[in-house]
Amino acid sequence: MANELKSLLKKLSDAHGISGYEDDIREIIKAELEDYVDEIRVDKLGNVICIKNGSEFKEMIAAHMDEIGFIVKYIDDKGFIRFTPIGGWFDQIALGQRVVLHGNKGKVYGVIGCKPPHLMKGDERKKAVEIKDMFIDIGATSKDEVLDMGIEIGTPITIDRELVGLEKSRVTGKALDNRAGVAMMIQALKETKSDATIYAVGTVQEEVGLKGARVSAFAIEPDVAIATDVCIAADYPGTESAHMDVKMGKGPAITVVDASGRGLIASKNVLRWLRETAEKYEIPYQLEVAEGGTTDATAIHLTKSGIPTGVISVPARYIHSPVEVIDLEDLKNGALLIARALERAEKYFK
Ligand SMILES: [Zn+2]
Repeated sequence: MANELKSLLKKLSDAHGISGYEDDIREIIKAELEDYVDEIRVDKLGNVICIKNGSEFKEMIAAHMDEIGFIVKYIDDKGFIRFTPIGGWFDQIALGQRVVLHGNKGKVYGVIGCKPPHLMKGDERKKAVEIKDMFIDIGATSKDEVLDMGIEIGTPITIDRELVGLEKSRVTGKALDNRAGVAMMIQALKETKSDATIYAVGTVQEEVGLKGARVSAFAIEPDVAIATDVCIAADYPGTESAHMDVKMGKGPAITVVDASGRGLIASKNVLRWLRETAEKYEIPYQLEVAEGGTTDATAIHLTKSGIPTGVISVPARYIHSPVEVIDLEDLKNGALLIARALERAEKYFK
């Protein structure tokens, strides 16, 4: 299964889709799950909802499909392209990246450049370059040439970086946030023997405001929900001071609190359900209390009169960069935990 999971994750991470442009990821989810579910719907915002019919009890799994990226905002007369970030970027990580522009004539490759350091003076050279001072070079020499290539204002842009294996079961890729969560959802649905009705939802636009989760949870009104995502592994240089006990390779994380409680405070019952399931099946897990970042669960749990919602995350290093790193064992165990939890949910939430 390890190899299957790796190739599924590679397919998902190498696919491209910034917020609002999740089409390719949606197609992968449909193809993966069509043999396992009774119905697949796409709602007006673009969420893909895969339904496996069962009892009256409704269970929802949500995995956001979008990745952070950029969008074209201006093309100058010499053919250089200015761009706006979509999602949370650490500016200095964008510099020097090779990117893909998804124009209306197909993919176009480009590079992100800035003024060369050789021409910078004194202190300028020591400062981080901001995205507003960067540009994309696609090799064109005029604005008309750029337009002819199918690139215009509003063309979405993603990072060009394929997933590769590192030591042992670790992998690195550009969009493990949140294709790791998408792979975990797909795997959990394939594995679970829950007899409830299950809604596996690939959500849109999480990175820009949890938008798809909000409307899909409203439509489904589940009895219980699990959001899948990645979380910060505080186990590499510079993260020690976070005083977080989440490490890569030690199992999926169950969120207790994120964003210092402004996002999700998981209910005692949700925690009991997920922890007792992990303990019963001897699945390793970690508990996460985080001060920053949040997930689709934040939007889901506040839907209608309130929905018991938990988060299962894959610990990841270098989140929101083109070189995110996770351990496939955590992903595998996360899928197992979700699959078993769905089978036992009715006892806790009916
Ligand atoms: Zn995410």
